[in-house]
Amino acid sequence: MTPDLVIRNGRVVTSGSEAMADVAVKDGVITQVGGDIPRGHEEIDAAGKLVLPGGMDLHVHLSPVNLPDRQLAWADDYTSGTEAAAAGGVTTIGDITFPIPGESLPQAFDRAVETASAQTVVDFALHTVLLDPSADKLPEIAQLRERGARSLKIFMHLFGFETRAAEYLRVLAQAGHDDMLSLVHCEDSCVIGHELEKLVKAGDTGIENFPRMRPVSSESAAVERAIAFAESADAPIYIVHLSSARALDAATSARRRGLPVYVETRPIYLLFDESRYQSDTPGLYVGNPPLRSRSDVDALWAGLAAGDIATCCTDHAPWKREQKLAPEVDVTMTRPGMADLETLMPALFSEGVLKGRISLQRFVEATSTNAARLFGLYPRKGTIAPGADADITIFDPHLTKPVRGAELYSRAKMSLLEGVELTGWPVRTISRGETVMLDGEVLGKPGRGRLAQPTDTPAFASPQAPIL
Ligand SMILES: [Zn+2]
Repeated sequence: MTPDLVIRNGRVVTSGSEAMADVAVKDGVITQVGGDIPRGHEEIDAAGKLVLPGGMDLHVHLSPVNLPDRQLAWADDYTSGTEAAAAGGVTTIGDITFPIPGESLPQAFDRAVETASAQTVVDFALHTVLLDPSADKLPEIAQLRERGARSLKIFMHLFGFETRAAEYLRVLAQAGHDDMLSLVHCEDSCVIGHELEKLVKAGDTGIENFPRMRPVSSESAAVERAIAFAESADAPIYIVHLSSARALDAATSARRRGLPVYVETRPIYLLFDESRYQSDTPGLYVGNPPLRSRSDVDALWAGLAAGDIATCCTDHAPWKREQKLAPEVDVTMTRPGMADLETLMPALFSEGVLKGRISLQRFVEATSTNAARLFGLYPRKGTIAPGADADITIFDPHLTKPVRGAELYSRAKMSLLEGVELTGWPVRTISRGETVMLDGEVLGKPGRGRLAQPTDTPAFASPQAPIL
């Protein structure tokens, strides 16, 4: 059998192994790793490079939110967002999919699959947002699962969560029953509302006061409550974008008690601290929750190194610079989110691996393998092994270059790392055997991305899963 593609002379790194090995691909699937491999139709020399499982950024916003009271249209759509993914070595994205008013969960999912299938450059998963926790909507969760979804998203600080908390607890229980993982945005709306009221009364509405509005107590209260709900519901939860040491401590002790509580953080909480709100451009750093103290940053790196934090995903929610810095933006009207899908892997490698904060294997787990495990996509995604999709990032660990927002594929055309020299960049991104990025240029065409198909055993169903 002649392989379609052979990647030679690279150092193959997966969760749990690292070795010089050649990789053979046929029909978009990895057929052999190591050993003698005959000449392929296409040969790639990866000497001096790392051969990594393609990145899995399973928390991004590439579709607009259409709610009765507001519309949030981020700068990227499925095409520009997945071009940014391919440019950054990411071969699977997970989009937060909001139903439009009147749509059921499966209707929203089906609509998004159709749009994303026509527009994406790399593969995708969808986390459908549950906005109505009514009892008669609960059967829709199983309908999502029948369609290949393994997750749904709930927000604790929005959409009347506080007044319908008992119903949301039943949602978690139903999701657990249906083997679905609930992504939970953990911030407490009472605390945020009260802090905002104090800021408005004091006339401190400038955006530099943003962190005062959403203090650590708001996050830790919500994380504690989400954990208690998960325990009562006997259901797994995935805490998105965790930002503080206190919240991490709560999640870690829950995990040590045996609860299926998984933690994601995002690059901004590892790269920056709250002093950025005292800069000339505090608005650029607005994300929910806010940047935290230096000791929180250190705690998150330690949590990532120890495996207490499972994943680092971006929550890519791109705005243009002028939108982030618009004069109307203050604590009463924020534009949370930033574009960093394209720099996820270089930033985490440069600041994490090269600075000795995390191992190379932990880097692979945090940017790829663990997300695949948690969302039921492993071992088809998230590893380099026979039978896996040939989603591979060839990564040059010595390439140093500055981040230039204007050169990014994201339509935000800006980066919080503007001008920062990062070392370690993807030089080729391969999606199901096809090169979709080469030397920074995206070659993959919109419409080739597919809904990532789940395997039968999500990690949270197995107490032996390595990240537990
Ligand atoms: Zn998000």
